[in-house]
Amino acid sequence: MKVTVFSEHGKSHRENPEVVNRHPHGIHRTLKELFDGAGFDTTAVWQDDGDDGSMLTDEILNDTDVLVWWGHCMHENVSDALVEKIVKRVQCGMGVMFLHSAHMSKPFRRLLGTACTLKWRDNDRERLWVSAPAHPIAAGLPEHIELEVEEMYGEHFDIPAPEELVFIGWFAGGEVFRSGVTYTRGKGKIFYFQPGHESNPSYHNEYVRKILVNAVNWLAPTFPIGKPVECPCVEPLEYK
Ligand code: ZN
Repeated sequence: MKVTVFSEHGKSHRENPEVVNRHPHGIHRTLKELFDGAGFDTTAVWQDDGDDGSMLTDEILNDTDVLVWWGHCMHENVSDALVEKIVKRVQCGMGVMFLHSAHMSKPFRRLLGTACTLKWRDNDRERLWVSAPAHPIAAGLPEHIELEVEEMYGEHFDIPAPEELVFIGWFAGGEVFRSGVTYTRGKGKIFYFQPGHESNPSYHNEYVRKILVNAVNWLAPTFPIGKPVECPCVEPLEYK
């Protein structure tokens, strides 16, 4: 299985000691090491300040079974042409996992069709409840896990009704959040997962790591990913 991890890795991360402490070589490398260790063939690409996502080439995208996307401050730099290619490949069967602040990424909003806005606050304690214990993404987990420090994401989260609500986050400040949700678009599966603020240790938590690996396994297509079917009577849309 071919996994591609895309993450922002601009100056605000590279020169922030708190982020470097958690992710010495970037979030993409932390996740690549996790997925490689789970036996996936993983490619890590990253986005520098001002970059439009150019490291995610056609060659890499067209060889990806599951795309994992972490973004925060550079969503708007990602080219619309790349977003359209991602959307089409999802519709043809590629799985995609959006992590943490990727809720505002262009491909997530484009796939879901809503604003995807939410409430947020730094540094709270989170209790992540398993709300679908039979779901493959929750395999091997206790009924809830504790994250000592995570960014609070709260309702209302402006997403369509999920097909499966796998996790519900509760925060010590009183908020709740639909922290793990699934969708399908065309033949492709989508999973959004809330934990993973860049200066917090969530991606080193053993249960979070289990969730991420479970999710990639669940997202994997069970058939060869084909090419988009173009309607013969309509000129292909051009995106700028
Ligand atoms: Zn964050």
